This record gives sequence, C-alpha cells and structure tokens, in this order.
Amino acid sequence: MSSTKATQLFQQVYDHARETSLLESTLALLEWDEHTGLPEQAGLYRADQVTFLSGLTHKRKTDSQLGEWLSELSNSELAEEPNSVLGASIRGWKRDFDRNIQLPESLVKRTAHAISVGQQIWASTKGNNDFDTFLPYLKEIVSLRREEATLLAQNRVCRYDSLLDQYEEEATTAEVDLLFSQLRDQLVNLVQSIGNSEHGPTGRSLQGTFDIEKQKQLSRWVAEKIGYQFERGRLDETQHPFCTSLGPNDHRILTRYFQDSFSSGLYGTLHEAGHAMYEQGMPTDWFGMPAGAAASLGVHESQSRLWENMIGRSRAFWQWCLPEAVKFFPQLAEFSIEQIYGDLNRVAPSLIRIEADEATYNLHILIRFELEQELIDGDLACEDLPQAWSDRYQSYLGIRPANHSEGVMQDVHWAAGLIGYFPTYTLGNIFAGQLMVAAEQELGELDGMISQGDFRPLLEWLRAKVHKHGRCFKPTLLISNACHAPLSSKPLMDYLEKKLKPLYHIA
Ligand SMILES: [Zn+2]
Repeated sequence: MSSTKATQLFQQVYDHARETSLLESTLALLEWDEHTGLPEQAGLYRADQVTFLSGLTHKRKTDSQLGEWLSELSNSELAEEPNSVLGASIRGWKRDFDRNIQLPESLVKRTAHAISVGQQIWASTKGNNDFDTFLPYLKEIVSLRREEATLLAQNRVCRYDSLLDQYEEEATTAEVDLLFSQLRDQLVNLVQSIGNSEHGPTGRSLQGTFDIEKQKQLSRWVAEKIGYQFERGRLDETQHPFCTSLGPNDHRILTRYFQDSFSSGLYGTLHEAGHAMYEQGMPTDWFGMPAGAAASLGVHESQSRLWENMIGRSRAFWQWCLPEAVKFFPQLAEFSIEQIYGDLNRVAPSLIRIEADEATYNLHILIRFELEQELIDGDLACEDLPQAWSDRYQSYLGIRPANHSEGVMQDVHWAAGLIGYFPTYTLGNIFAGQLMVAAEQELGELDGMISQGDFRPLLEWLRAKVHKHGRCFKPTLLISNACHAPLSSKPLMDYLEKKLKPLYHIA
C-alpha cells in the first residue's frame, strides 16, 4: 500500500473513531448525571437512553467497513512502530475491534440495560441492606458477564482472564495471582505485628464535627494546589466517589462528605483528582483514541493512589497543608503535624474498602479478586455471596460485617457490571510504589518540595513518563520504562514498612 493510501485510510478510521467517541462521551455525561441528581422517577427512561446509545456505539465499533480498514492499516507501514502514536492507534483500534466484534449487539444492549437498572436498584436498596431485592438484578448482571467472558475466552486459560484483559491489557489471572501472593504474606505479617503493638496513633485528631461547606472549600483548595485544573473540570458530590471524562477539556470528579469525618471527603477528592490529572495530562488532540486514553485501569489507579496516599498522607504534605486546614477547622490547631500524620496513617482492620488504611486495603481487594473468580469460573452462586463475603473477611481481617451495606453491597462495581476490575486497584498501588521510587531517583528528595506545596516537579515527571503516552505502551511496559525496572511489589511493601513500622514502634 502506498503511504498516501495508508495516511488516507488512517484519517478515515480516525474520523470514524472520533464520531464514536462523541457518542461515548455523551453516554458518559448521561451516566454522570445519573450519579449526581437524577430525579427518583427518571430512572427507567434514562436506562432506555443509555441502552439505545450503547447499541449505537456498539454498532459503530463493529462496523464491517471499519474492520476492513483496520485489517489493511495493520499491514501498512504506519503500523510498523507499535509504540508510536500512529502504530499504537492502529494496534489499539484493532484490539478493540477484535474484542467488540465477538460480542453480539443483543448482549451489549442487554448488559447496558441490566447495568443501568442494576445501579439504580443497588443505590435504592443498599441503605436498607436489602440484598434480596437487589439479588435478581445482580444475578442477571453476573450471568451476562459470564456469557461475555465465555465468548471472549477462546485461547485463554480461564474466563476471568478475558474480563481482566479488558481493564489491564494482556494481564492474566496467573500473573496477577503471583504478584499478589508475594504481597499477601508480607502484608499479613505487617498487619499482625501492628495489631500486636501497644503503641500507635489514636485517631483522635480526625474525630469531631466538621462543617461540610468548609470541607468542600478545603477539598477544592487542595485539588487546585496539587495541579487539578478546574477550568477543565468540576467537583461534585455523589454516593460513591468517581472521576469521568466527558471531553478533552472536561474531566469531572465527585466525592462525598460526612460531618463526623474530616478525612473522607478530602481523600476522596485527592484520589479522584489523581485520576483526573492523569486524564488532563493526555494529548487532547487524541481524546477518545488509543493515544489519548489511559494505558490501563491499573495505571489509572496508580495515579489516584499516588496522590491520595503517597503524597496526601505524607508528613511533608501535612507540613504544608495543616496551616491552611486550621483556617477551616480551628479545632485542628490543638494537634501537632505528627499526631495528624499518625492518625491519617492509622492501621485497623475495617469493613469498608474505600475507608481502609493503606496496609489493609489490599486485603479488601484480594477478597473481591477471589470471589469474582469464583463467580465467573467457579461455582459460587450470587445467593451465597453474602456468606462467602463474610467468611472471607473473617479469615483475612478477623471481622464480619453486621449488615449488607457494610458487606457485600458496599461497592457499586458489581452492580455496574465491573467484574475483573478490582485487582487493578492493587496493581495500581504496586505501580505507584515503583513510580515514587523512580521519581525520587530522578528528581531528588520529594519531601522538601511537597512540604513547600511545590507539586509541579512531580506532576510534570508523571506527565512525561506516564500521562502523555496514553495507550501507546502496554501497561507493564509503560511502568517498567518509566521506572527502569521490572514489575515488582517490593517498592510498595518497602514503602509501607518504612512508613508504618515507626508509627507502631516495630523494629
Ligand atoms: Zn480510583
């Protein structure tokens, strides 16, 4: 094929993909709206809208003409450099097409409808711990995702692999299992030593009454200072914090506030701002295309957890933030930086994943990772999920939920059809651990900058090493290139031990 022909073909696929992304970002807007203020009785019509648009996008993504163009393009010289913007675009489009073409439109539409209704039912039943009402919807969603996994499984060892691959390109259950098992033993040891320690923070500085309006102002201030661009985003409230991109210059974040918690809304904001700053750092010209999309969910999560925990829960961060926080909450003045730092890093087995400390957090993920595999490849029935959930919490964390909303119904993920998604959280922590080591090697000690509120060098480093590359590299290659090291959970474990052992006087 001549290079002029290849360039023309590329432009045709680009235009096609751009229109698909216009539709998809419109869908994302409907979903954002569904989570921010949908009138109680508007749900069913919204589900119809989402179903219809999902069907349309699926039709476009599986257009046979697109398939022909991509086959030709894949054999052209433009595809020769797999990690160049053009080569990666072709590789990414082809990968998505090959996946989508295996899924019948009827399955895609049934799934979209089940997920839209499922989330609404989840939201209305969670507060009453009404698992029985939610159960038939959950069963439908799990069965649809199993059906999808079966269609996609083909050469894979297990069905779960094909769900995992959707979020983390080319990751396999076996590899993830290996990486997690190294972490699991050390984490369990660390959490046990902490449990046996007679020392440690009390959590007292985080208790009290914290005006929600002031929490909002502080959260906004912090998000802006670390580098989240409000002129290309906004911060709202929802039941379950998230981040969504509605356009190249529209990356929205949502958090939730509690009057009796100083940290929940703030750290929800930091986490989601980390996600959004990744999106804001991608090339805007390539929005909705592989070169302007996240490398994987694990990489996405590495950005949110890095800002939330490795930066936001550091001593240096509070050296900078406390004087400002005291202006909003004068009661904090009676505590030292050391006390607040300790309290924000307190380790205690708990039931709610998104409130969990950094050490136990990964155990919450391991539980979900195991249960998901059993739902998709094993013989765990949805009816038995609450019991299996409680038993697993008992054995990993030594506690049992008293009700479903602090147990199996706490996360929106399964109601949203997101199965295979949870392990990417721990992968994100692992990636973040590696990125922090590499950033420090190249930028010098970060604490000095952070304590001055100078977040720019770190953000720019992340932009250069991670954000600007979009999906041009497969996730493990992107991280190992950025860190000049193979994938390893050791930096994460070293970081946790270095931070937590002194707090609990562990040798
Ligand atoms: Zn996240």
